[in-house]
Amino acid sequence: MNGRAALLALQADCRACHLCVDEGIIPEANPTFEGRWGAPFFLVGQAPGPVERESRRPFSGRAGKELDRWMVRAGFESPDEFRSLTYIAALMRCFPGRNRSGTGDLKPPPAAVANCAHWLESELRILKPKVLILVGQLAIARFLGPGRLEDRVGRRFGDRPVMVPLPHPSGQSRWLNDQSNRERLAAALSLLAQLRLSLAPPHRRRSNSDGGPGPSQHRAQRPRQMKMRSKA
Ligand code: SF4
Repeated sequence: MNGRAALLALQADCRACHLCVDEGIIPEANPTFEGRWGAPFFLVGQAPGPVERESRRPFSGRAGKELDRWMVRAGFESPDEFRSLTYIAALMRCFPGRNRSGTGDLKPPPAAVANCAHWLESELRILKPKVLILVGQLAIARFLGPGRLEDRVGRRFGDRPVMVPLPHPSGQSRWLNDQSNRERLAAALSLLAQLRLSLAPPHRRRSNSDGGPGPSQHRAQRPRQMKMRSKA
């Protein structure tokens, strides 16, 4: 089976997964992820929220709108271009539920993250992405181990794939209230802009002959210049 067929088979199996329901961890399975064969970017988030539970499209709620704005700042021509070049999945693919006070979503239970891990590992093995965008502390810790967000955001890690950590775009996060953290985010988006330009240059985006993503209608565009911080 070639890579594209293997990915499609895996996606079909994942959409049918209800292991965490069988184990009583969540009441309902709604595996949510999106992406195509050939995507050079792979975004790993924490878990879908209530909006994604309905839409079955990752980052389709308010946090997703903010993520889309960040990606346009990072030089992607549009949110659609970002999503055409990026496979989007999460450590837990089903909505974990709301907390008791109703003020936010539950953190993904470790048992669900463990159940879900093999989907992510298989996708990474099949897709071999060039860049991993790690969104939020849980996803960052999964790949880089525990550490402060301040020491991660604005830097790149690893080589193949390159890992670029981002804070969670949720409005609930106060991390970005701090000016120095906003500068860290700007540096991270600048890193992504460089990677996007090198991985999806205009001539490749005008041609989809390799079967990978590259909508012919997109125009060439230079990323915005942003202040750079240190490189790992
Ligand atoms: S969270 Fe993952 S392992 Fe659990 S039911 Fe959903 S897709 Fe399956």
